[in-house]
Amino acid sequence: MTKQAHARKKHIPMRSCIACRKSFPKRELLRLVYTPHGVQIDPSGKAAGRGAYICNQPECRRRTLNAKVLSDALRVPLSTEQFAALMQQLQQATDS
Ligand SMILES: [Zn+2]
Repeated sequence: MTKQAHARKKHIPMRSCIACRKSFPKRELLRLVYTPHGVQIDPSGKAAGRGAYICNQPECRRRTLNAKVLSDALRVPLSTEQFAALMQQLQQATDS
């Protein structure tokens, strides 16, 4: 191994939370993705589609319960049904 490769820090991808706008390492955030089937939680972080990230703070999770925050972040209009379905997923993810 070369000296240079050794000294280099591993790159950690950062993403910002849609509620508090702070940057966090990507893997610490919950990813939501907009798919043709609606907005879904993306545990793998790899699903195709427009994504939005939320950090672990209860305040941010709570703010995401506002449909406007989400539709602004994803830049798509969310129907009440889509939003309700997502909230159910989000609640389950947060409870466990
Ligand atoms: Zn946050």
